[in-house]
Amino acid sequence: MNPESIKMPEAIHFAMEAAWSAYLQYRLLPRHRRVEFMYAIAHEIEALGDELIATAHSETHLPVARLIGERARTCFQLRSYADACLQGDWLDARIDTGDPLRSPPKPDLRKMNVPLGPVVVFGASNFPFAYSTAGGDTACAFAAGCPVVVKAHPAHPQTSDLVAAAILSAAKKCNLPEGIFGHVHGDGHETGALLVQHPRTKAVGFTGSFRGGKALYDLAQARPEPIPVFAEMGSVNPIYLLPGQLSERGEDFARQIAASITLGVGQFCTNPGVIVGLQGADLDRFAQVLRDEIIHTAPAMMLHQGIAAAFHSHVARALSQPEVIPLAESRTPFSSGESRPTIAQVTGAGFLSQPKLAEEVFGPYSILVQCGSSGEMEAVAEMLRGQLTSTFIATEDDLRSHEALVALVQEGCGRVVVNGVPTGVEVVLAQHHGGPFPASTDSRFGAVGADGIRRFCRPLAYQNYPAQLLPPELQNENPEAIPRTVNNVCTKEAIP
Ligand code: NAP
Repeated sequence: MNPESIKMPEAIHFAMEAAWSAYLQYRLLPRHRRVEFMYAIAHEIEALGDELIATAHSETHLPVARLIGERARTCFQLRSYADACLQGDWLDARIDTGDPLRSPPKPDLRKMNVPLGPVVVFGASNFPFAYSTAGGDTACAFAAGCPVVVKAHPAHPQTSDLVAAAILSAAKKCNLPEGIFGHVHGDGHETGALLVQHPRTKAVGFTGSFRGGKALYDLAQARPEPIPVFAEMGSVNPIYLLPGQLSERGEDFARQIAASITLGVGQFCTNPGVIVGLQGADLDRFAQVLRDEIIHTAPAMMLHQGIAAAFHSHVARALSQPEVIPLAESRTPFSSGESRPTIAQVTGAGFLSQPKLAEEVFGPYSILVQCGSSGEMEAVAEMLRGQLTSTFIATEDDLRSHEALVALVQEGCGRVVVNGVPTGVEVVLAQHHGGPFPASTDSRFGAVGADGIRRFCRPLAYQNYPAQLLPPELQNENPEAIPRTVNNVCTKEAIP
């Protein structure tokens, strides 16, 4: 398939039908073929060299060093998810051997995860490599055995074209069917909507705004055949400052939090947008250091004019709410398309009475909520359910003595951080990047780490199936030595 922009809607139909016929072949290939393909994609992306970085830089304004790092992360994701594909943990292979002598006879049952079918992936504006065309969702889908059709993000179309060409080149070198990867550009929401509604689409991966993710989720559920949509829609990632640690190291953490708020011009879904503490001298000292850091942070270009315009209007809206006052605004003049690092402040009561203040402002902005009591902090935590992350700045004693708050916070987020910042998402198996709605549309799954492969498969059980016709992963010999649960025991051994 040609990686150039394809016009819709025929293009969509063509891409999805090609993906379907590729799926019928790809799902049957041994896993090592998927691994070869994913390694080849990483290689092809690296071979694009400076051209890729320069193109992404001109389209996104992200600094070159950041883009080089993100490209490395993208290739690491492809290779490490490929390794995980081979290792086979995500297959959840279960075997309960039969017993013909039991009365009634016990059937032989063997179960493992199988691919869902073609996956539509929406590239993210803020990660032109790691969560776009060959990003985490695409890597997970390929590992699971699913072809992918990407809706390129309109803010970096040429970057997306280059990466798409790299994927197609890898597919060709690995002798994979043409439709294994499709790449579609769109102008307006119709393209994305049609991709989600196409009958050959079996799952969707999305990173972006709440409005976009929820609209696509609703469309998917309204189809004659509803399909899963794994939308990661961001959150305000609250930070709770507990009294013991605030008194001991509050100023230290104020500097770390300021750096986290402004990292990457605040354009991370894990950006801390709400900071919650108890009124008093320690919080005043924390606020003073935070203010000093922010006023000296220079504005910088945001990803695109639309995101910059949304940032300024959302900050203005927050600052115009009753009881909200600015704590700090960068003192450096800013130009069109640039951010202006800003911190607002409000009392706990003021925050609780204005739900709009709990909405994400995408960019270098945060609001300091000064609570009058622990009970008020708990009420804020209750209001802030549905987060990717929540952070405690706390000693062990703080955590012990705020049991109710700790429980509420854990109930409402996908990752709880202690004495750190939520930005900087490690790509490892034990990571979880997701969370209860509205952080994501399915709190059981995450978008970072090889466990994300599980989003794009479903269990299939084989009952009394002829031994030699079973997938190799479920045969007695266990030729690939994958981890399996055999008669309730975890093992990589063959069944004698
Ligand atoms: P977005 O507006 O949600 O767009 C993401 C993708 O979804 C684009 O390809 C967009 O393409 C498509 N789309 C959006 N709404 C749609 C709809 N109703 N129907 C069909 N397709 C739809 O995200 P964005 O452009 O990256 O940034 C906008 C805002 O999203 C930011 O200001 C920020 O608040 C938030 N954001 C959050 C994260 C995060 O990590 N959670 C990341 C980036 C952005 P079309 O416009 O061509 O339809």
